[in-house]
Amino acid sequence: MFSKIKEMLDTNGDNKNQVKNAPSEKSKPVNKTNKPRIGYIHLSGCTGDGMSLTENYDILATLLTDMVDIVYGQTLVDEWDMPEMDLCLVEGSVCLQDEHSVHELKEAREKSKLICAFGSCAMNGCFTTYSRGGQQAQPKQESFSPINSLVKVDLALPGCPVSPEMIAKSVVAYINNDNDYLKPAIDIAACNTACGCDLLTGIISKGLCTGCGTCGLACQTRAIEMIEGRPHINTDRCIKCGACYASCPRSWLPEKQIKKELNL
Ligand code: SF4
Repeated sequence: MFSKIKEMLDTNGDNKNQVKNAPSEKSKPVNKTNKPRIGYIHLSGCTGDGMSLTENYDILATLLTDMVDIVYGQTLVDEWDMPEMDLCLVEGSVCLQDEHSVHELKEAREKSKLICAFGSCAMNGCFTTYSRGGQQAQPKQESFSPINSLVKVDLALPGCPVSPEMIAKSVVAYINNDNDYLKPAIDIAACNTACGCDLLTGIISKGLCTGCGTCGLACQTRAIEMIEGRPHINTDRCIKCGACYASCPRSWLPEKQIKKELNL
């Protein structure tokens, strides 16, 4: 089940993330039931992604109970020692001053075949990158980084939070080994800056925008308004979740090919 995804990751030239803590041969999971062994780690964030996951329980109940083994997770499993896993979902950015979080993330990298940045805080830091300490209710914490700043990330599901639909479809795609569906999630795993500004600099100002409006529909804070067929970014509302950039069809297509077709 995982060999094809691993093969894609190994040959994926678009994923420029550095391999800092790739899983070793010895970390291969011991799988007695032959089901994927899945873990869930909650780092720094608002818990919105976890809530979005629970929205899916009626859809995912069969999948989660019959087709995968949840082997690690603070509120999911009564297990204190991290086991070896096939896939570990990581919610939230990592606080660099929190020794436990840093250690848990690195241990997950060692023990999991695939790491998925689950939500924008894990993928690119999202709103936690604005935190500089001194605020309630986490006054001692200072520096929040996307998890790919510390470990290699294999997949990312953007969103603040990840939509219940994306979670359900991604889990089904993962179980069915649907690499076509998962490819965007693999490509964006190295992303750690996506926000409305990237739409401006990476898509609109390069003449790649078709005015489809998908970015506006993906924005969960309504920071994007379509004006005269082009997205207008309200930077006061943008929380840098990257959902707009990740959902823009032009961010996935090869820029050279687009320019060639448009004679740019
Ligand atoms: Fe333009 Fe991309 Fe937004 Fe569509 S999703 S309107 S192509 S920036």
